Amino acid sequence: MSIESDMFTEADGEPVAVDNPSGKSDVLLVCEHASLRLPERYGDLGLSQDALTSHIAWDPGALDVARRMSKSLDATLIHQRFSRLLYDCNRPPESPAAIRDVSEVFRIPGNENLTEAERSRRTTGLYLPFQGRIRDEIAARRDAGRQTVLVTVHSFTPVYFGKQREVEIGILHDTDARLADGMLEAAADTSLYRVMRNEPYGPADGVTHTLELHALPAGLLNVMIEIRNDLIADDNGQDVAADFLSGLLRESLTKIHG
Ligand SMILES: [Zn+2]
Repeated sequence: MSIESDMFTEADGEPVAVDNPSGKSDVLLVCEHASLRLPERYGDLGLSQDALTSHIAWDPGALDVARRMSKSLDATLIHQRFSRLLYDCNRPPESPAAIRDVSEVFRIPGNENLTEAERSRRTTGLYLPFQGRIRDEIAARRDAGRQTVLVTVHSFTPVYFGKQREVEIGILHDTDARLADGMLEAAADTSLYRVMRNEPYGPADGVTHTLELHALPAGLLNVMIEIRNDLIADDNGQDVAADFLSGLLRESLTKIHG
């Protein structure tokens, strides 16, 4: 029995999902924190229902917005089918944030005192196939003479450690700001959202791992989008955010490509 197969049951299914695999857009959408699902064998990790459905488990609304963007842009979307409570796929295995035993104000009993074997099982079961699928997709496009523009979609909680966050949409980047600059310029006159650069956090917080892994070494245009989750809690909010963000991407990519 492989390490992966004792992590998931048949009913759990695969860790990685791909929507619109034949999408024609250069944009490749990625959603690392798409799901609050836990594999059956992990139970509830000792957490309350409140914690299991909160932002520590997933990015509420992010997948819904990413799916709408995938349709609007005709872009492929790769998303993780299990909760970041087990492994945060936007963190490398050596990061203490990959598997947390405390997240914001919540203790996660099921993550305390993990053995190396269990850490390795989660890395192999969740992280490696996820980042591997992104790597393969980018390589297949390159072989076919296609570009990739890497766009990761996240949501954040309006209140963190008791503090209200004023930013509504964050446009985040690491050392390559080309696409972020273009999107911020396109958003400059909007009255729809309060849009800010590298807020509510930025590359110093270790949040640009997926971009660092795939986009920066290859010089691919890239950006990380953060949406305040109270704004995308229903269909209408998700529609408006996806339209707005797809528009920013279209406008900035047209400008960059001339
Ligand atoms: Zn996220």
